[in-house]
Amino acid sequence: MAVIIKTPEEIQKIREGGKILAQILEKLSREVVVGMTTYEIDNRAAELVRASGGTAAFLGYTPHGVKTAYPASICVSINDEVVHGIPDKNRVINTGDIVSLDLGLKYKNMFTDHAVTIAVGPVSKTGRELIDTCRESLLLGIEEIKPGARVGDIGNAVQAFVEKRKFGIVRGLAGHGVGRAIHEDPYVPNYGRKGTGEYLRPGMVIAIEPMITLGNPDVVFLDDEYTVVTTDGSKSAHFEHTVLITETGYEILTLP
Ligand code: MG
Repeated sequence: MAVIIKTPEEIQKIREGGKILAQILEKLSREVVVGMTTYEIDNRAAELVRASGGTAAFLGYTPHGVKTAYPASICVSINDEVVHGIPDKNRVINTGDIVSLDLGLKYKNMFTDHAVTIAVGPVSKTGRELIDTCRESLLLGIEEIKPGARVGDIGNAVQAFVEKRKFGIVRGLAGHGVGRAIHEDPYVPNYGRKGTGEYLRPGMVIAIEPMITLGNPDVVFLDDEYTVVTTDGSKSAHFEHTVLITETGYEILTLP
């Protein structure tokens, strides 16, 4: 599958959707409190998406190689769960939990993808550093986008920063093109070498999403086919923006 250059009309729809998605996730992340179940978070996400006039992109989506469709609107991944945690009536948010909220929006038939990680209640200094480093690594990766830049430049910047801070960078999952579908080419890994990979061209829209760990960066899928956890049980963080490549650089589309 070739990389898709979006038309100005498509970009405008993605821009509108990205802003709405960011507003939803910002609102939702302020509502997450100790004692709430991840099922309740999902219900609230579904409600906010419905009110926006869009639809939840992950609900009913079946990734390549997976047998069952994703059963919820949002992914809620707690502590050692890195990504794709499935909301559950029996899963309660506890004090000090590190919670990743990952939501895809389909709006005017175009897709955007966005994730944030929040600390619920007081969290350890290391936990705070984990979250901050992941957020900063995403911004540093995005700042690599300029005329002539390549996909490897993003991964290299993310990896260098995360490893300098002595956190682990997850390698088995990556960012991706987004827009006409929730997952498109190119593959955007969070590690790599400068000057390698696909050239970033104006009109491309990509989701960049570093996932980092407190310990070993190795991850494994649980039997539910979705939840990805660290093999050593260490905590993790995840941030994601949908980003447009422009003539002069970039535009982050998932800002409120
Ligand atoms: Mg994504």
